[in-house]
Formats: sequence, structure tokens, C-alpha cells
Amino acid sequence: MLLIRCPYCEEERPELEFRNAGEAHVVRSSDMASISDEDFEAFFFIRSNPRGVIFERWRHVHGCARFFNAARDTVTDKFLMTYKAGEPRPTLGEQPAAGTAAPVAPEEPVKKKPARRAPAKKKDA
Ligand SMILES: [Zn+2]
Repeated sequence: MLLIRCPYCEEERPELEFRNAGEAHVVRSSDMASISDEDFEAFFFIRSNPRGVIFERWRHVHGCARFFNAARDTVTDKFLMTYKAGEPRPTLGEQPAAGTAAPVAPEEPVKKKPARRAPAKKKDA
């Protein structure tokens, strides 16, 4: 079972206690009535959907009920970190830019076939 650390409860809890609330750090315009349709579309519908690290909002619905943010790898589904809502977006070492493919490590090391040996020569009796 996937465990998610709630930054408010300060403990790891089963994923069943949490609910995803979409991409984090989507900035809402202070004057929504005056923005263009294209800007509204970008704000309301367009998300980065990267292959790799994404910053998301999560809610501990069956716990403290508070919203927090998480950095999660969409390839491995592993949570890299969680942090309280309102905290700035952290920088996580080297991460691929949104929309670029992250290098994928093979699941298992590639097994080499043993070198084929030439059949042993029969010794003349
Ligand atoms: Zn909590």
C-alpha cells in the first residue's frame, strides 16, 4: 500500500486517507472577469501532465482534512516530498522540465546471453 506523509499530522498514512486535488501552484488571476478566453482556458483546463516529477495538491480527507502539496514522480508513483500549502514550490535537484521525457531506467538489468561456445572438438581416439 502506498504511504503518503501528511505534513500537518507529521506521519505517513495509507493512501486511502487522501484525495488528489489536481496540480499545485496554478496561479489564479486576481481579476478573472477581465482576462481573455485563452488565458481563462489556460488557467482552468490546461495542465502540465508531465512524465516525471509533478507538483500536486492533496487533501488528507480522512485525517486532518487539510490541503497540502506533494512532489510525485508520475512514472514510479513515488512521493518525493510533501509540504504545507502556501509554502513555495521546492526545487528538487535535477528534474526534467515539464513536458520532456525523463530517462527511464530499465526494470531489470539486461541479461547478457552467455557467449556461444564453439562445439568442443572431438579428440581422435
Ligand atoms: Zn493530516
